[in-house]
Amino acid sequence: MTETDVVVIGGGATGVGIARDLAMRGVDVVLCERGGLGAGTTGRSHGLLHSGARYATADPEGAAECIRESRVLRDIAGKAVERTDGLFVQLPDDDPAAFDARIEACHDVGIPTETLSTDAVRDIEPELTSDVTRAFRVPDGVIYPSRLLAATAESARQHGAEIRPNAPVTDIVVADGTVTAIETDDERIAADHVVNAGGAWAGRIAELAGVEVPMAPTTGVMVAVDVEGVDSVINRCRPPGDGDIVVPHEDRVVLGTTSTPVEDPDDFPTDEDAVVAMLMEGTAMVPSVAAADVVDVYWGVRPLYGGDDGGRGRDASRGFQVHDHDVAGLTTVTGGKLTTYRLMAEAVSDAVCERLSVSEPCRTADAELPAEDAEELDALVETFDAVGPADTDIVG
Ligand SMILES: Cc1cc2nc3c(=O)[nH]c(=O)nc-3n(C[C@H](O)[C@H](O)[C@H](O)COP(=O)(O)OP(=O)(O)OC[C@H]3O[C@@H](n4cnc5c(N)ncnc54)[C@H](O)[C@@H]3O)c2cc1C
Repeated sequence: MTETDVVVIGGGATGVGIARDLAMRGVDVVLCERGGLGAGTTGRSHGLLHSGARYATADPEGAAECIRESRVLRDIAGKAVERTDGLFVQLPDDDPAAFDARIEACHDVGIPTETLSTDAVRDIEPELTSDVTRAFRVPDGVIYPSRLLAATAESARQHGAEIRPNAPVTDIVVADGTVTAIETDDERIAADHVVNAGGAWAGRIAELAGVEVPMAPTTGVMVAVDVEGVDSVINRCRPPGDGDIVVPHEDRVVLGTTSTPVEDPDDFPTDEDAVVAMLMEGTAMVPSVAAADVVDVYWGVRPLYGGDDGGRGRDASRGFQVHDHDVAGLTTVTGGKLTTYRLMAEAVSDAVCERLSVSEPCRTADAELPAEDAEELDALVETFDAVGPADTDIVG
């Protein structure tokens, strides 16, 4: 039987980030992921490295986390991120007051903005519609989730963590009110502590230990179209809604997204109308979308918490929560964003280290990921079986 200090269940960004953080503090970690790394939501994200401007008006605290963490990732994540910048554009139907309010909210949070004339913004992005009435620039970027996962997993491994893709956890063993082990199809792993980083599946994983974690997942669709020549993230400057973001890749743009509550994160309706809506909203910002080929359509499921303060659908908090349970030796993390995965991992690792009496501090914000060489990074993506639809066009 394998023995370890901590088992992390779930190999999305959050789980892999936790494995790295704990391993860097000298904790023995085994991570089990039921599919390839990122098979859940991380490999199916829109891939926007949020500056926080999207959240500045409604959630200043979340926006402040985003600007801090996006700066960290720009520094440490090498070729797993692209430093593109982002534009917020106002179209004729959009409320001018929302534009002013967003700039003011960005300033309050400390997110730099640069207001651009309509000529200047179309010089920067010639594919933008000539209907733009006002625009400003923010330090948004693009994340390649498979690469970020692979680099984080490799760093964890270099610090001694064992990363096991394709190892679904089938049971959490509890004795006398304390978690003692987990089981996969092949073996039992004894552990002093178990972290449930199961994303939208966190409720189901908690059930294995007889614990309730109410989840309120929502799905979102991404539509990739073969439009070239867009270099910045383009955000429609209005209250967050469907289809208001265009994320640029080398030879395509990814349009998204939606937010529809679902019961089952493994089985939900995928609505063709949502795809059509993304194309229409995308065309309003980038007219060449109308005649472009759709090259991919994929859906992700947000790991939103459904407890007391969670909210629902688009109103649900995009912040994260770290939960203790009546069963000792189990910590669950819910919510959050890909942009803030390192911060989430730090908060969870702090809680676990406190229980295990480990006093080493978090060092993940200052230590570069092994992500400088794109070819080596893409080989790691293969090794960890981390290929996902969010960046198949970039990786390899
Ligand atoms: C449509 C959409 C667009 C998004 N866009 C952005 C964006 O542009 N920018 C941003 O910052 N964030 C974005 N997000 C949010 C972000 O993608 C997620 O918050 C983040 O990826 C969640 O990571 P996670 O590790 O918590 O969950 P996941 O990536 O889902 O990881 C949980 C893992 O647990 C595994 N698992 C489940 N059951 C078991 C089991 N029994 N045993 C072992 N493993 C198990 C799953 O397979 C899964 O891989 C988006 C989310 C969605 C849905």
